[in-house]
Amino acid sequence: MNWLSKDRNCIWHPFTPQKDMDDPIFIERGEGVWLIDEKGNRYLDAISSWWVNLHGHAHPYIAKALFQQASKLEHIIFAGFTHAPAIRLAEALLSILPKRLSRVFYSDNGSTSTEVAMKMAIQYWWNKEGRESNGRKKLLAFRNSYHGDTFGAMSVSDRSVFTLAFHDLLFEVVFIDTPEEGNIESLEAIIDREGDGIAAFIYEPLVQGAGGIRMYEAKWLERLIRKARSKSIICIADEVMTGFGRTGKLFASEYMEEQPDIICLSKGLTGGVMPLGVTACADFIYQAYVTDDRLKTFFHGHSFTANPLACTAALASLELLKEEAAIQGIRRITESNIRFLTRLQAMATNNEAPIKNPRALGTILAFEISSGKDEYLNKVSPVVTRMAMEKGIYIRPLGNTVYLMPPYCISDRELALLEECICEILMKF
Ligand SMILES: *Cc1c(COP(=O)(O)O)cnc(C)c1O
Repeated sequence: MNWLSKDRNCIWHPFTPQKDMDDPIFIERGEGVWLIDEKGNRYLDAISSWWVNLHGHAHPYIAKALFQQASKLEHIIFAGFTHAPAIRLAEALLSILPKRLSRVFYSDNGSTSTEVAMKMAIQYWWNKEGRESNGRKKLLAFRNSYHGDTFGAMSVSDRSVFTLAFHDLLFEVVFIDTPEEGNIESLEAIIDREGDGIAAFIYEPLVQGAGGIRMYEAKWLERLIRKARSKSIICIADEVMTGFGRTGKLFASEYMEEQPDIICLSKGLTGGVMPLGVTACADFIYQAYVTDDRLKTFFHGHSFTANPLACTAALASLELLKEEAAIQGIRRITESNIRFLTRLQAMATNNEAPIKNPRALGTILAFEISSGKDEYLNKVSPVVTRMAMEKGIYIRPLGNTVYLMPPYCISDRELALLEECICEILMKF
């Protein structure tokens, strides 16, 4: 039996309708931006394998660091024990994160990093105000948001096709539109009105990822953070997608003066090599847990908390991120995006291709194909993916939203290839 029929018999793939599904692509190895199947076909990974990969696949520097660490210590319990990779990584992260953040809590993916953030914030109020208090329990979040697939993360994610089966079971959230010139004052008024009951405000700064790569401006978000802070609401930046250079700065929060009280990291944290989540918080939150009352302990942890291999991959990835090659890569993609954006805007204006709302920030570029409704279930997505695969490019539109988010090691030639491929596909619509 070949690999694909074996896969069919035993595996359930994520986010994949199981009836009439296309065969998955069997990938044998990766090399830089390329994924290579068993027949030797090469596909340019233009979405960094679901936004995680920074430096290319099977990077020898990270591989070597992993091998050395695996031969020394692969994993231990992290309650009552510690190890060098976890300590070194926490120090390295705190030296580049916004100054307000001073303490690192580890978990193992993006959803757990946001779950931890929300639990940390809710229990902060419980620890402070006492067990009998009804206190602050609600969360504030944006429409169109996505914070992960576990129950807490689903609750603060917009009610969408992803969460439809679970709506009755999700906790109460105050949802507001993403801010812009026309609505900023009404959003501030909502925070003023509801603020005393709100424990925390969770947001994807500047780019809402799975909600359709929607972008909004830093100056409006900054006003909301300031307003939330005036009501003592804990501000949680979910930088699971935007972290580690994606938006052109190391963290999207750097586009603003107002810093978050908690930040959530995953995806690019390990360069996309190992699963790892980080929730870093400000000291005032941590201090609410430093008490003689043992019931005020943060009773949360995962078997693989601070896995030494994952921490090692993250340290190696951070080293690579500081090198000229990565810095130049981010700059190269950003500049290429600005040029491509101009071209897309001209195509839209001249009706050369059915596209809407082209946009870019740093290494992220997106636009909608005007075909059917703007929604995740739009049938354009699998069609575009198939057309691109035939040209040796891997993209995976969110409904009719096509986006590019390549690893930083992509060359100018590969960027040009990508652009031509997208334009050729657009000409067929
Ligand atoms: C992907 C994502 C998550 C969830 O991360 P997982 O590792 O897939 O659980 C949470 N928040 C944002 C902003 C994301 O993009």
